[in-house]
Amino acid sequence: MARHTLLIDADDTLWENNIFFEKTIEHFVTQLEHLGYTREYIRHILNETEKRNIRQHGYGVRSFRRSLEETYMKLAGNAARRELMQEIARLAIELEATPPHIMDGVPETLAYLAKHHRLILLTKGEPAEQAAKVERSGLQPYFDAIEIVLEKDAGVYERMVEQFKIVKTHGWMVGNSPRSDINPALQTGLNAVFIPHTDTWHLEHAELESGTGKLLILTSFRDLREHF
Ligand SMILES: [Mg+2]
Repeated sequence: MARHTLLIDADDTLWENNIFFEKTIEHFVTQLEHLGYTREYIRHILNETEKRNIRQHGYGVRSFRRSLEETYMKLAGNAARRELMQEIARLAIELEATPPHIMDGVPETLAYLAKHHRLILLTKGEPAEQAAKVERSGLQPYFDAIEIVLEKDAGVYERMVEQFKIVKTHGWMVGNSPRSDINPALQTGLNAVFIPHTDTWHLEHAELESGTGKLLILTSFRDLREHF
């Protein structure tokens, strides 16, 4: 097989990410129930706050912590307590300290792929936080480059194509997010491998769109071996 370039997503593709945020949110919502709102309503306010903060402050634990704090202040009003603000700070620190939980089959599959193809890790988020996760994962040696971007849109994929001189017919984006990985890559004319994760963050959901490139849908990262 010819040598291809594989751009590979990290969060919820190489390691678990969203489940840890979900656990934190569950705990947070429980802490707020005494205010008399339903869990659904608390979650709704948090979701709206997160969307706004991501536009202003980007992705990452710090932006998420701000969303938890603002949601609490909004719902508690004058009844807001210092102890709960401290609990939110504790939750954020714990979340950031959580070591990456590498998904099944990932290291051996990367080892195989790196022998035959050029691998580039492409992740979005807060640069220092994502870099720390990559470092702790121990997976860097398999990659020719590590790219951390603020958002993954068609413009970023165009930039990757230019920067790494990727021949589009031989370039692929591999990831779990239709919105950030699959649709913008296909739109750019790259091919894509969609590996759905049962716990994909709701903000990453989108209808799959088609493009000029090929689209493969796999059930696990390990299955890449069958195609590359
Ligand atoms: Mg992802």
